[in-house]
Amino acid sequence: MNKPLLEVEGLSKLYRTRSGGDFAAARNVSFQLGQGETLGIVGESGSGKTTVAKMVAGMIPLTSGTISLDDKSLSGAKRVLADRRSIQYIFQDPVSSLNPRWKIRDIVAEPLKLYFQLSPKEIDTRVEQLLDDVGLPREYKSRYPGELSGGQCQRVGIARALAAEPSVIVCDEPTSALDMTIQSQILDLLKSLQQQKGLSYLFIAHGLEVIYSISHRVMVMKAGEVVEEGETKRVFHEPHHAYTRSLIQAIPRIDIPQFN
Ligand code: ADP
Ligand code: MG
Repeated sequence: MNKPLLEVEGLSKLYRTRSGGDFAAARNVSFQLGQGETLGIVGESGSGKTTVAKMVAGMIPLTSGTISLDDKSLSGAKRVLADRRSIQYIFQDPVSSLNPRWKIRDIVAEPLKLYFQLSPKEIDTRVEQLLDDVGLPREYKSRYPGELSGGQCQRVGIARALAAEPSVIVCDEPTSALDMTIQSQILDLLKSLQQQKGLSYLFIAHGLEVIYSISHRVMVMKAGEVVEEGETKRVFHEPHHAYTRSLIQAIPRIDIPQFN
């Protein structure tokens, strides 16, 4: 791998418990992400995936550790606007991640207004391009999220993330709330956007089945810690950790009858 784009070292997040002790939602998590690469993060619910993702995206403060993007430290308490722009987030629940009172146009335009100096006409053109990019009809800009399906709402969420022109997108279980066929359409869209734009993804899932087709490397988390990390094929075919093996065994399989 060339010099990694994103470097995360020793990231921890402690929460104070009611009894006054510390609970580690994430402990000593380290990884690297190259340009144009996808790192899958898997682990059961509560294993700390979202905690790590939100620290990386600057949405919650870190207890300890370092994050750097392109050799620039992002570990400080408050992230400047330009650094917030570079790492964007796609949420698990596409519908509730969109403001129901805003039209699609305004949702997608929000990052454009925040990060770039554009005229109203330029914003309108950019919104249309972004809807094209995510495969939504341009007319949808006058609709509200409640008038769209779950898969269409997730396309809006992707357009909003792309609007910031990030180098890294954190995809936090972006297909978990969607039907199987819609899931694969969204995965295909993310893969083709990655190829077109050279994006890097941190792609989170609770099961391994979604990870296989999209990730170059996989990191497995359990109880806030990384238990295994490696190339996707290696992790699937020669898992080192018993917990990874249990995740592989949990993948639903379709038994196709053999006719010889
Ligand atoms: P995952 O995304 O893998 O399901 P999370 O990162 O959301 O897991 O949560 C990891 C652990 O941290 C869970 O036990 C969760 O209850 C706990 N946790 C998350 N956020 C907070 C918080 N704000 N305060 C206290 N505990 C939290
Ligand atoms: Mg989560």
